Amino acid sequence: MKRDTGQNRSITSKWRSSTRAVRGGTWRSEQGETSEAIFMTSGYCYDDAHTPAARFAGQEPGMTYSRTQNPSVQMLEERIALMEGAEACRAQASGMAAMSTALLCQLSVGDHMVVARAAFGPTRWVTDNLLPRFGIECTAVDGRDLDQWKAAIRPNTKVFFFETPANPTMDIVDIAAVCALARENGIRSVVDNAFATSALQRPLDQGADVVAYAATKLMDGQGRVLAGAVCGTAEFINGVLLPYQRNTGCTLSPFNAWIVLKGLETLELRAVKQAENALEVARFLEARVPVLNHPGLPSHPQHELVKRQMRLAGSVFSFEVDGGREAAHKVLDALEMIDISNNIGDTKSLMTHPSSTTHSSLTPETRALMGVNEGMLRISVGLEDPADVMEDLDQALRTIGL
Ligand SMILES: *Cc1c(COP(=O)(O)O)cnc(C)c1O
Repeated sequence: MKRDTGQNRSITSKWRSSTRAVRGGTWRSEQGETSEAIFMTSGYCYDDAHTPAARFAGQEPGMTYSRTQNPSVQMLEERIALMEGAEACRAQASGMAAMSTALLCQLSVGDHMVVARAAFGPTRWVTDNLLPRFGIECTAVDGRDLDQWKAAIRPNTKVFFFETPANPTMDIVDIAAVCALARENGIRSVVDNAFATSALQRPLDQGADVVAYAATKLMDGQGRVLAGAVCGTAEFINGVLLPYQRNTGCTLSPFNAWIVLKGLETLELRAVKQAENALEVARFLEARVPVLNHPGLPSHPQHELVKRQMRLAGSVFSFEVDGGREAAHKVLDALEMIDISNNIGDTKSLMTHPSSTTHSSLTPETRALMGVNEGMLRISVGLEDPADVMEDLDQALRTIGL
């Protein structure tokens, strides 16, 4: 295998981010293929008995078993690391595999962590239900309030975890401020960057230690596969995360890795265009609905912070209608083009009612604290002509008199 384009860091580190997204991590086999190959293999064969012994001992590079490494998966990992500006990256089977791996690989009984309460539903299930079973305590705070992060720190606090923008309230966490606070206190900061991706927001540049991804969303971008990734220093990824991952098996399939690898080649184009489309749709809706949460609009309470830490505010936002769940469901049922779907980051525009879907596993009290109200709807704007998205929303809102 010719590995020049992926492995020669003196070349790849010169590349700008769009070039890294298209070419970073590419290995070429002796066939000279232009598109990266899919290595659908679980195991590897060796020319002699010495070779596997040396590889297992870590004395020689090379593949041993696809739970630990696979060429297609490794191409994806190298590309994501380059795009993120991270020393190392490991891909996982899904976004939640990435979030749970990023936490479980470093936390032990007696440890404490702090989570921003407006987080992805399953992430809160992990922090509120799973971790306590293993003696790991978690405090949930309002991620927008630095004083709450400060007040939550204990002598045994090991991790700060947050997502920004947060799903579905579009709360913004000040990455630089919260990560600096973590660092001053010897706490590792982990940021779920799935909504923005490296195309729109770069947490490592702003002081984060670890970035975790649901690559299922904007990175694949066409609603095809589940995938995840965790990026950080080589010391953290290889020393702390890899032993956990290789022994627990949250590994990504080579086929799914390939899908995401090809998705990354158009990530920047899609992320920018979908964010522009979303802003246009949000401007149209703002005059129609009682509450609208879009970080890219001056009406968002943290708009100045958004301008500081994001290139664009992303393709997802939420709004509320009067009349609670019944009215929100009526709007969804009236849609003619936009799909009712709880996924995001697709080229197709998708809408969901968070309180009865993505956030239904949380208690009504937790939902209320997070600001996930019964009349809230979330939209992920795709690559259709925004005029068609607005026309569909217009006729759907009319059915509830808006
Ligand atoms: C979707 C999502 C996840 C989980 O990803 P899966 O691939 O569905 O497991 C985690 N965090 C955020 C912010 C997400 O949007």
